[in-house]
Amino acid sequence: MENAINIDTLLKRHADGNSIRDIRRIIAHLKGTSYENVFFHGSELFFTPEEHACFINMLCRYEAQEPISKIIHRKSFWKYDFFVNESVLDPRPETELIIELVLRHFNPADQLKFFDFGAGSGCILLSLLHEFKKSTGIGIDISAKAVDVAIHNRQMLGVKGATFLNASWNDPLDIMTAPCDVVVSNPPYVRTQDIALLEESVRKYDPPEALDGGANGLDAYVQIAQVSQKILKKGGMIFLEIGCDQAVDVARILEAVGYGSISVEKDLQMLDRVVYAFRC
Ligand code: GLN
Repeated sequence: MENAINIDTLLKRHADGNSIRDIRRIIAHLKGTSYENVFFHGSELFFTPEEHACFINMLCRYEAQEPISKIIHRKSFWKYDFFVNESVLDPRPETELIIELVLRHFNPADQLKFFDFGAGSGCILLSLLHEFKKSTGIGIDISAKAVDVAIHNRQMLGVKGATFLNASWNDPLDIMTAPCDVVVSNPPYVRTQDIALLEESVRKYDPPEALDGGANGLDAYVQIAQVSQKILKKGGMIFLEIGCDQAVDVARILEAVGYGSISVEKDLQMLDRVVYAFRC
């Protein structure tokens, strides 16, 4: 192949100072093949000059701290690879704790109704519906572009039972929605003044409206606590991701609107990550 560039040669050339794993992921994305294929058969794979030019462009973005997920438009969460772009918060491993907790409290054979406030890429709701095959769910997001991403993921992954709507949590959702069994949310919870302190990969590449929780980081919880009361069945449950120093405040917010048996769960780093409670 004239002018073709061998992948293994390329890997050696760019190995220094870069994660070889991430470079393999960029190559796999460009070749439309699996990471494993690049890993095991790099010596038999070649880039055309055009593919090589794309690769160099992506490598520059990677070296300028753009998250690999935003470059290759893929992020793993729970059991799926989700499409992501600049309109959605990157799915994060600690958010998988919500799926684990729902599985701990409900039977996957049950026919449940879920509601996701601020669904973003759809990663929470679509992962729940993957586990709870007989269930359905509604995910809302204030960003129409995020809703497009969630719908794209639903179609790409072939998940049944999910409806995504472009709506705000101030909208009269109780009129739109039949009573739910489970409310989930990973709302914006970073204090406005702390946004500037976030890592560049978050501050520059995650949408601000998915991060900014207002002056004390709690704005979304106050609203979700009130609205969720109207759409949850008695005995239904709410699961909220929180910032690691927000457990006491979020528990108080839930208690004030009448939630009971409020618990806090830590993530793998032993940081408070999810507050959950029952609607009395
Ligand atoms: N966990 C995100 C961070 O790393 C914040 C996500 C959110 O506000 N929901 O900053």
